Amino acid sequence: MALQNMERLVNKMKQCEYCGEEISEEEYEDERNGYCYECTDDLMTEEEEDIWRL
Ligand SMILES: [Zn+2]
Repeated sequence: MALQNMERLVNKMKQCEYCGEEISEEEYEDERNGYCYECTDDLMTEEEEDIWRL
């Protein structure tokens, strides 16, 4: 039973598409493109820089 609970937890964990950091499913769905908060911040900054370049 404990093992099943662990497997369920592991299955619930997603990984950031960028840095591979484990993020919760909740966080994963909340963030764009499956990135963790840190990478979302980085990517947002990059996007802002791209906008400034245009
Ligand atoms: Zn990340």
